[in-house]
Amino acid sequence: MANQLISQIRRIWRFLVVRKYYAMMSFTGTIHFLFCLFFLYYQVWPMMIFNIVSTTMYFSTLLLIKRGKEMLAIMLAYLEIVLHGIAATYCVGWNTGFAQYLFVVVPLGFFACLELTEGSKRFVIPFLLGTLVGILYASTRQLSHMLTPPYTLSHQTVDFAFVVNSVVTFAFLLLFLILYTYTISEMEQKLRDQNAILDYKASVDPLTNLLNRRSMQEHLIKVFESGRDFAVAMLDIDDFKNVNDSYGHEAGDLVLLEVARIVQEIIPEGSPVCRWGGEEILILFIDASKAKATELSEQVRKCIADNYIPFYQKTLHVTVTIGVSAHYGIHSIDETIAEADNKMYYGKKHGKNQVVSLQRRI
Ligand code: GH3
Ligand code: MG
Ligand code: MG
Repeated sequence: MANQLISQIRRIWRFLVVRKYYAMMSFTGTIHFLFCLFFLYYQVWPMMIFNIVSTTMYFSTLLLIKRGKEMLAIMLAYLEIVLHGIAATYCVGWNTGFAQYLFVVVPLGFFACLELTEGSKRFVIPFLLGTLVGILYASTRQLSHMLTPPYTLSHQTVDFAFVVNSVVTFAFLLLFLILYTYTISEMEQKLRDQNAILDYKASVDPLTNLLNRRSMQEHLIKVFESGRDFAVAMLDIDDFKNVNDSYGHEAGDLVLLEVARIVQEIIPEGSPVCRWGGEEILILFIDASKAKATELSEQVRKCIADNYIPFYQKTLHVTVTIGVSAHYGIHSIDETIAEADNKMYYGKKHGKNQVVSLQRRI
Protein backbone atom coordinates (compact mmCIF):
# COMPACT_ATOMS: atom_id res chain seq x y z
CA MET A 1 0.00 0.00 0.00
CA ALA A 2 2.75 2.44 1.06
CA ASN A 3 4.87 1.31 -1.90
CA GLN A 4 1.98 1.93 -4.29
CA LEU A 5 1.50 5.41 -2.85
CA ILE A 6 5.23 6.17 -3.19
CA SER A 7 5.33 4.96 -6.79
CA GLN A 8 2.20 6.99 -7.57
CA ILE A 9 3.83 10.11 -6.08
CA ARG A 10 6.99 9.36 -8.11
CA ARG A 11 4.93 9.08 -11.29
CA ILE A 12 3.17 12.38 -10.63
CA TRP A 13 6.51 14.02 -9.77
CA ARG A 14 8.10 12.80 -13.01
CA PHE A 15 5.07 13.95 -14.96
CA LEU A 16 5.37 17.41 -13.39
CA VAL A 17 9.16 17.57 -13.78
CA VAL A 18 8.94 16.83 -17.51
CA ARG A 19 6.29 19.54 -17.87
CA LYS A 20 7.66 21.78 -15.12
CA TYR A 21 7.35 25.08 -16.99
CA TYR A 22 3.75 24.32 -17.95
CA ALA A 23 3.06 23.32 -14.31
CA MET A 24 4.77 26.47 -12.96
CA MET A 25 2.87 28.85 -15.23
CA SER A 26 -0.48 27.14 -14.72
CA PHE A 27 0.01 27.14 -10.94
CA THR A 28 1.11 30.79 -10.88
CA GLY A 29 -1.76 31.75 -13.20
CA THR A 30 -4.23 30.07 -10.85
CA ILE A 31 -2.77 31.92 -7.85
CA HIS A 32 -3.17 35.22 -9.71
CA PHE A 33 -6.76 34.33 -10.50
CA LEU A 34 -7.33 33.85 -6.74
CA PHE A 35 -5.59 37.21 -6.12
CA CYS A 36 -7.99 38.68 -8.63
CA LEU A 37 -10.97 37.43 -6.57
CA PHE A 38 -9.33 38.68 -3.37
CA PHE A 39 -8.84 42.20 -4.76
CA LEU A 40 -12.33 42.16 -6.31
CA TYR A 41 -13.81 41.25 -2.90
CA TYR A 42 -11.93 44.11 -1.21
CA GLN A 43 -12.54 46.41 -4.17
CA VAL A 44 -8.89 47.17 -4.80
CA TRP A 45 -9.60 47.90 -8.46
CA PRO A 46 -6.08 48.61 -9.81
CA MET A 47 -4.80 45.31 -8.38
CA MET A 48 -7.85 43.46 -9.65
CA ILE A 49 -7.16 44.71 -13.20
CA PHE A 50 -3.44 43.98 -12.73
CA ASN A 51 -4.30 40.39 -11.82
CA ILE A 52 -6.69 39.95 -14.76
CA VAL A 53 -3.79 40.92 -17.04
CA SER A 54 -1.39 38.69 -15.07
CA THR A 55 -3.68 35.66 -15.17
CA THR A 56 -4.13 36.11 -18.93
CA MET A 57 -0.38 36.51 -19.34
CA TYR A 58 0.46 33.34 -17.38
CA PHE A 59 -1.93 31.21 -19.38
CA SER A 60 -0.62 32.80 -22.61
CA THR A 61 2.97 31.84 -21.68
CA LEU A 62 1.89 28.21 -22.09
CA LEU A 63 1.87 28.90 -25.85
CA LEU A 64 5.36 30.40 -25.64
CA ILE A 65 6.59 27.29 -23.82
CA LYS A 66 4.98 25.10 -26.45
CA ARG A 67 7.01 26.98 -29.08
CA GLY A 68 10.21 26.38 -27.12
CA LYS A 69 10.48 29.96 -25.82
CA GLU A 70 10.75 28.99 -22.15
CA MET A 71 13.27 31.72 -21.37
CA LEU A 72 10.93 34.46 -22.60
CA ALA A 73 8.08 32.95 -20.56
CA ILE A 74 10.25 32.84 -17.42
CA MET A 75 11.45 36.42 -17.91
CA LEU A 76 7.83 37.63 -18.28
CA ALA A 77 6.91 35.77 -15.08
CA TYR A 78 9.99 37.23 -13.35
CA LEU A 79 8.98 40.77 -14.32
CA GLU A 80 5.33 40.21 -13.38
CA ILE A 81 6.17 38.85 -9.92
CA VAL A 82 8.42 41.84 -9.16
CA LEU A 83 5.92 44.42 -10.43
CA HIS A 84 3.03 42.68 -8.67
CA GLY A 85 4.91 42.64 -5.36
CA ILE A 86 5.69 46.36 -5.62
CA ALA A 87 2.22 47.42 -6.87
CA ALA A 88 0.32 45.35 -4.27
CA THR A 89 2.55 46.70 -1.48
CA TYR A 90 1.85 50.23 -2.70
CA CYS A 91 -1.94 49.62 -2.85
CA VAL A 92 -2.56 47.65 0.36
CA GLY A 93 0.57 48.18 2.45
CA TRP A 94 3.77 46.40 3.47
CA ASN A 95 2.14 44.30 6.20
CA THR A 96 0.09 42.25 3.71
CA GLY A 97 3.34 40.48 2.78
CA PHE A 98 2.97 40.87 -0.99
CA ALA A 99 6.57 42.08 -1.22
CA GLN A 100 7.74 38.62 -0.05
CA TYR A 101 7.18 37.34 -3.59
CA LEU A 102 10.31 39.25 -4.60
CA PHE A 103 12.29 36.54 -2.76
CA VAL A 104 10.78 33.88 -5.00
CA VAL A 105 12.24 35.25 -8.24
CA VAL A 106 15.86 34.94 -7.07
CA PRO A 107 15.97 31.09 -7.09
CA LEU A 108 13.64 31.10 -10.12
CA GLY A 109 16.29 33.07 -12.06
CA PHE A 110 19.09 30.69 -11.04
CA PHE A 111 17.02 27.62 -11.83
CA ALA A 112 15.88 28.86 -15.26
CA CYS A 113 19.39 29.99 -16.25
CA LEU A 114 20.90 26.66 -15.13
CA GLU A 115 18.51 24.84 -17.43
CA LEU A 116 18.14 27.23 -20.33
CA THR A 117 21.50 28.99 -20.71
CA GLU A 118 25.14 27.97 -20.86
CA GLY A 119 28.51 29.10 -19.53
CA SER A 120 28.89 32.31 -17.54
CA LYS A 121 25.31 33.40 -18.35
CA ARG A 122 24.20 30.81 -15.80
CA PHE A 123 25.73 32.93 -13.03
CA VAL A 124 25.82 36.47 -14.39
CA ILE A 125 22.17 36.88 -15.46
CA PRO A 126 20.52 35.53 -12.27
CA PHE A 127 23.09 37.29 -10.08
CA LEU A 128 22.45 40.70 -11.68
CA LEU A 129 18.68 40.20 -11.67
CA GLY A 130 18.77 38.98 -8.06
CA THR A 131 20.80 42.02 -6.99
CA LEU A 132 18.35 44.35 -8.75
CA VAL A 133 15.43 42.62 -7.05
CA GLY A 134 17.18 43.01 -3.66
CA ILE A 135 17.54 46.76 -4.28
CA LEU A 136 13.86 46.98 -5.35
CA TYR A 137 12.80 45.08 -2.21
CA ALA A 138 14.69 47.49 0.07
CA SER A 139 13.38 50.54 -1.88
CA THR A 140 9.79 49.25 -1.64
CA ARG A 141 10.25 48.93 2.13
CA GLN A 142 11.48 52.52 2.33
CA LEU A 143 8.69 53.84 0.09
CA SER A 144 6.07 52.00 2.14
CA HIS A 145 7.22 54.06 5.17
CA MET A 146 6.76 57.31 3.27
CA LEU A 147 3.51 56.58 1.39
CA THR A 148 0.13 55.75 2.86
CA PRO A 149 -1.61 52.92 0.95
CA PRO A 150 -4.64 54.23 -1.01
CA TYR A 151 -6.66 51.15 0.08
CA THR A 152 -7.09 50.23 3.71
CA LEU A 153 -7.79 46.63 4.72
CA SER A 154 -8.88 45.50 8.18
CA HIS A 155 -6.23 44.11 10.57
CA GLN A 156 -7.67 40.62 10.18
CA THR A 157 -7.54 40.81 6.38
CA VAL A 158 -3.95 42.11 6.48
CA ASP A 159 -2.98 39.23 8.81
CA PHE A 160 -4.78 36.73 6.61
CA ALA A 161 -3.06 38.07 3.47
CA PHE A 162 0.31 37.98 5.25
CA VAL A 163 -0.09 34.34 6.30
CA VAL A 164 -1.29 33.22 2.85
CA ASN A 165 1.48 35.15 1.07
CA SER A 166 4.11 33.72 3.43
CA VAL A 167 2.89 30.16 2.89
CA VAL A 168 2.82 30.56 -0.91
CA THR A 169 6.29 32.20 -0.89
CA PHE A 170 7.73 29.31 1.16
CA ALA A 171 6.03 26.76 -1.07
CA PHE A 172 7.60 28.35 -4.17
CA LEU A 173 11.03 28.59 -2.54
CA LEU A 174 10.92 24.93 -1.52
CA LEU A 175 9.69 23.89 -4.94
CA PHE A 176 12.49 25.72 -6.77
CA LEU A 177 15.16 24.35 -4.47
CA ILE A 178 13.83 20.79 -4.82
CA LEU A 179 13.71 21.22 -8.62
CA TYR A 180 17.24 22.68 -8.55
CA THR A 181 18.64 19.74 -6.59
CA TYR A 182 16.72 17.27 -8.74
CA THR A 183 18.00 18.84 -11.97
CA ILE A 184 21.61 18.80 -10.74
CA SER A 185 21.25 15.12 -9.72
CA GLU A 186 19.83 14.30 -13.15
CA MET A 187 22.71 16.12 -14.86
CA GLU A 188 25.20 14.17 -12.70
CA GLN A 189 23.52 10.88 -13.57
CA LYS A 190 23.60 11.76 -17.29
CA LEU A 191 27.34 12.51 -17.02
CA ARG A 192 27.96 9.22 -15.20
CA ASP A 193 26.08 7.33 -17.92
CA GLN A 194 28.01 9.12 -20.69
CA ASN A 195 31.31 8.38 -18.93
CA ALA A 196 30.37 4.70 -18.68
CA ILE A 197 29.62 4.64 -22.43
CA LEU A 198 32.93 6.40 -23.19
CA ASP A 199 34.83 3.99 -20.91
CA TYR A 200 33.18 1.08 -22.69
CA LYS A 201 33.99 2.48 -26.14
CA ALA A 202 37.58 3.14 -25.13
CA SER A 203 38.09 -0.44 -23.97
CA VAL A 204 36.32 -2.43 -26.67
CA ASP A 205 37.10 -3.34 -30.27
CA PRO A 206 34.19 -1.97 -32.32
CA LEU A 207 34.01 -4.88 -34.78
CA THR A 208 34.17 -7.90 -32.47
CA ASN A 209 33.14 -6.32 -29.17
CA LEU A 210 36.16 -8.03 -27.60
CA LEU A 211 38.43 -5.95 -25.38
CA ASN A 212 41.00 -3.92 -27.28
CA ARG A 213 44.75 -4.26 -26.82
CA ARG A 214 45.07 -1.25 -24.50
CA SER A 215 42.43 -2.59 -22.19
CA MET A 216 44.01 -6.07 -22.18
CA GLN A 217 47.33 -4.54 -21.24
CA GLU A 218 45.66 -3.05 -18.15
CA HIS A 219 44.33 -6.51 -17.20
CA LEU A 220 47.77 -8.07 -17.76
CA ILE A 221 49.52 -5.48 -15.59
CA LYS A 222 46.91 -5.88 -12.86
CA VAL A 223 47.21 -9.65 -12.70
CA PHE A 224 51.02 -9.49 -12.99
CA GLU A 225 51.29 -7.01 -10.12
CA SER A 226 48.90 -9.03 -7.97
CA GLY A 227 51.31 -11.99 -8.10
CA ARG A 228 48.53 -14.37 -9.14
CA ASP A 229 49.18 -17.24 -11.56
CA PHE A 230 48.15 -16.67 -15.14
CA ALA A 231 48.44 -18.19 -18.59
CA VAL A 232 47.87 -16.68 -22.02
CA ALA A 233 46.71 -18.11 -25.33
CA MET A 234 47.53 -16.42 -28.65
CA LEU A 235 45.01 -17.37 -31.35
CA ASP A 236 45.52 -16.63 -35.04
CA ILE A 237 43.11 -17.49 -37.85
CA ASP A 238 44.68 -19.76 -40.44
CA ASP A 239 44.92 -18.48 -44.03
CA PHE A 240 42.64 -15.60 -43.21
CA LYS A 241 44.02 -13.64 -46.11
CA ASN A 242 42.47 -16.26 -48.40
CA VAL A 243 39.01 -15.51 -46.97
CA ASN A 244 39.39 -11.84 -47.79
CA ASP A 245 40.88 -12.53 -51.18
CA SER A 246 38.26 -15.13 -52.17
CA TYR A 247 35.06 -13.72 -50.65
CA GLY A 248 35.84 -10.10 -49.87
CA HIS A 249 36.37 -8.03 -46.73
CA GLU A 250 32.76 -8.42 -45.60
CA ALA A 251 33.23 -12.19 -45.40
CA GLY A 252 36.49 -11.67 -43.48
CA ASP A 253 34.69 -9.44 -40.97
CA LEU A 254 31.95 -12.05 -40.53
CA VAL A 255 34.56 -14.75 -39.85
CA LEU A 256 36.23 -12.51 -37.27
CA LEU A 257 32.87 -11.95 -35.58
CA GLU A 258 32.10 -15.70 -35.52
CA VAL A 259 35.53 -16.60 -34.14
CA ALA A 260 35.14 -13.91 -31.44
CA ARG A 261 31.68 -15.23 -30.57
CA ILE A 262 32.89 -18.82 -30.19
CA VAL A 263 35.87 -17.80 -28.06
CA GLN A 264 33.61 -15.77 -25.76
CA GLU A 265 31.15 -18.64 -25.51
CA ILE A 266 33.78 -21.17 -24.43
CA ILE A 267 36.12 -19.09 -22.32
CA PRO A 268 34.66 -18.65 -18.80
CA GLU A 269 33.69 -15.23 -17.51
CA GLY A 270 36.53 -13.58 -15.65
CA SER A 271 39.07 -14.50 -18.35
CA PRO A 272 39.62 -11.34 -20.42
CA VAL A 273 39.64 -11.87 -24.20
CA CYS A 274 41.00 -9.22 -26.55
CA ARG A 275 41.55 -8.56 -30.22
CA TRP A 276 45.32 -8.31 -30.07
CA GLY A 277 45.84 -7.45 -33.73
CA GLY A 278 44.15 -7.89 -37.13
CA GLU A 279 43.04 -11.53 -36.79
CA GLU A 280 44.82 -12.40 -33.59
CA ILE A 281 43.01 -12.93 -30.32
CA LEU A 282 44.70 -13.05 -26.93
CA ILE A 283 43.07 -14.84 -24.02
CA LEU A 284 44.17 -14.28 -20.42
CA PHE A 285 43.51 -17.13 -18.00
CA ILE A 286 43.69 -15.87 -14.42
CA ASP A 287 44.50 -18.36 -11.62
CA ALA A 288 44.56 -21.11 -14.25
CA SER A 289 47.25 -23.73 -14.89
CA LYS A 290 48.75 -24.23 -18.35
CA ALA A 291 46.89 -27.54 -18.55
CA LYS A 292 43.54 -25.82 -17.98
CA ALA A 293 44.36 -23.06 -20.49
CA THR A 294 45.39 -25.70 -23.04
CA GLU A 295 42.20 -27.68 -22.48
CA LEU A 296 39.98 -24.60 -23.04
CA SER A 297 42.06 -23.54 -26.07
CA GLU A 298 41.59 -27.00 -27.57
CA GLN A 299 37.81 -26.65 -27.09
CA VAL A 300 37.94 -23.29 -28.89
CA ARG A 301 39.99 -24.73 -31.75
CA LYS A 302 37.66 -27.71 -32.20
CA CYS A 303 34.50 -25.62 -32.06
CA ILE A 304 35.84 -23.22 -34.71
CA ALA A 305 36.97 -26.12 -36.92
CA ASP A 306 33.50 -27.69 -36.65
CA ASN A 307 31.72 -24.43 -37.42
CA TYR A 308 30.46 -23.55 -40.90
CA ILE A 309 29.40 -19.96 -41.48
CA PRO A 310 26.65 -19.22 -44.02
CA PHE A 311 27.56 -16.28 -46.24
CA TYR A 312 24.95 -15.47 -48.88
CA GLN A 313 24.78 -18.66 -50.99
CA LYS A 314 28.18 -19.84 -49.79
CA THR A 315 29.66 -21.34 -46.65
CA LEU A 316 32.79 -20.06 -44.94
CA HIS A 317 35.05 -22.28 -42.93
CA VAL A 318 38.26 -21.45 -41.05
CA THR A 319 40.58 -23.05 -38.55
CA VAL A 320 42.81 -21.46 -35.94
CA THR A 321 46.22 -22.09 -34.46
CA ILE A 322 46.77 -21.32 -30.78
CA GLY A 323 49.93 -21.00 -28.71
CA VAL A 324 49.62 -21.33 -24.94
CA SER A 325 52.11 -20.24 -22.29
CA ALA A 326 51.93 -19.88 -18.53
CA HIS A 327 53.62 -17.09 -16.67
CA TYR A 328 56.24 -18.27 -14.23
CA GLY A 329 59.17 -17.08 -12.17
CA ILE A 330 60.93 -13.98 -13.32
CA HIS A 331 59.26 -13.87 -16.75
CA SER A 332 57.80 -10.53 -17.73
CA ILE A 333 54.39 -10.06 -19.35
CA ASP A 334 56.03 -9.49 -22.74
CA GLU A 335 58.11 -12.65 -22.44
CA THR A 336 55.03 -14.69 -21.57
CA ILE A 337 53.15 -13.33 -24.58
CA ALA A 338 56.19 -13.79 -26.86
CA GLU A 339 56.35 -17.43 -25.79
CA ALA A 340 52.67 -17.96 -26.72
CA ASP A 341 53.33 -16.17 -30.01
CA ASN A 342 56.34 -18.39 -30.80
CA LYS A 343 54.33 -21.52 -30.08
CA MET A 344 51.56 -20.26 -32.31
CA TYR A 345 54.08 -19.72 -35.12
CA TYR A 346 55.44 -23.20 -34.53
CA GLY A 347 51.89 -24.51 -35.03
CA LYS A 348 51.57 -22.48 -38.24
CA LYS A 349 54.73 -24.05 -39.59
CA HIS A 350 53.65 -27.52 -38.62
CA GLY A 351 50.25 -27.90 -40.22
CA LYS A 352 48.09 -25.20 -38.56
CA ASN A 353 44.70 -25.98 -36.91
CA GLN A 354 46.31 -26.99 -33.61
CA VAL A 355 47.05 -25.92 -30.05
CA VAL A 356 50.71 -25.77 -29.09
CA SER A 357 51.54 -25.61 -25.42
CA LEU A 358 54.83 -27.46 -25.08
CA GLN A 359 58.13 -25.63 -25.54
CA ARG A 360 59.21 -26.13 -29.17
CA ARG A 361 62.02 -24.93 -31.38
CA ILE A 362 60.69 -23.22 -34.46
P1 GH3 B 1 48.36 -17.50 -41.48
O1 GH3 B 1 47.64 -18.79 -41.56
O2 GH3 B 1 49.81 -17.64 -41.58
O3 GH3 B 1 47.97 -16.73 -40.26
O4 GH3 B 1 47.91 -16.68 -42.75
P2 GH3 B 1 46.98 -15.44 -42.80
O5 GH3 B 1 46.53 -15.26 -44.19
O6 GH3 B 1 45.90 -15.56 -41.79
O7 GH3 B 1 47.92 -14.32 -42.25
P3 GH3 B 1 48.27 -12.89 -42.71
O8 GH3 B 1 48.88 -12.18 -41.54
O9 GH3 B 1 49.10 -12.93 -43.97
O10 GH3 B 1 46.89 -12.18 -43.04
C1 GH3 B 1 46.08 -11.60 -42.11
C2 GH3 B 1 45.03 -10.84 -42.86
O11 GH3 B 1 44.04 -10.38 -41.98
C3 GH3 B 1 45.55 -9.62 -43.57
C4 GH3 B 1 44.50 -8.57 -43.34
O12 GH3 B 1 44.00 -8.06 -44.55
C5 GH3 B 1 43.40 -9.30 -42.63
N1 GH3 B 1 42.69 -8.48 -41.67
C6 GH3 B 1 43.21 -7.86 -40.61
N2 GH3 B 1 42.23 -7.21 -39.94
C7 GH3 B 1 41.07 -7.41 -40.61
C8 GH3 B 1 39.71 -7.00 -40.43
O13 GH3 B 1 39.38 -6.30 -39.51
N3 GH3 B 1 38.79 -7.43 -41.34
C9 GH3 B 1 39.14 -8.23 -42.38
N4 GH3 B 1 38.21 -8.61 -43.21
N5 GH3 B 1 40.42 -8.62 -42.59
C10 GH3 B 1 41.37 -8.24 -41.73
MG1 MG C 1 46.40 -15.68 -39.79
MG1 MG D 1 48.19 -12.88 -38.07
